[in-house]
This record gives sequence, C-alpha cells and structure tokens, in this order.
Amino acid sequence: MEREKLLALYHWTQGICFRHPGRGETATTVVKTIHPRADGEYHVRACRDCVIDMEAIREEAAAESGSKYEPGHAGEALG
Ligand SMILES: [Zn+2]
Repeated sequence: MEREKLLALYHWTQGICFRHPGRGETATTVVKTIHPRADGEYHVRACRDCVIDMEAIREEAAAESGSKYEPGHAGEALG
C-alpha cells in the first residue's frame, strides 16, 4: 500500500511519538488507548514513520498467518 494512502487513514495531531520521544512534538496519531487504572486513560501516539513500520509488521503477519490485512489499525501490532 502506498505510504500516503496509508497515512491518510489516520487522524494526525501534534504529540509525542512513543518510540521517538526525543523528537519532541510532531505529527502523531493515537494508535492505542491504555487504561492503567480504572479511572485513567493513556493515549499511545505514533509518528508517521512508526505507523508505516507497524502497518508493515501487520501486513507481514497477516501474510504469514493467511489472514486478511486491513490497513488503518496500526495499534494492533502492539498486542
Ligand atoms: Zn515514531
């Protein structure tokens, strides 16, 4: 899948990528919402490079398991 089409599936806002905190604020998308406590909520944000990476991992895993790859759910690569 083309990078631009893949990125267009996500909603981008400024934030800190969970894998690249050193880059500071950049265009990120929420890939996962974690509830560390009953009343808490933590958004895992990923930058464009990471979303492309995660989608590639998912596509590969889908090919290996023979399941259908559906782009737009990068967070599922996080388990
Ligand atoms: Zn990143």
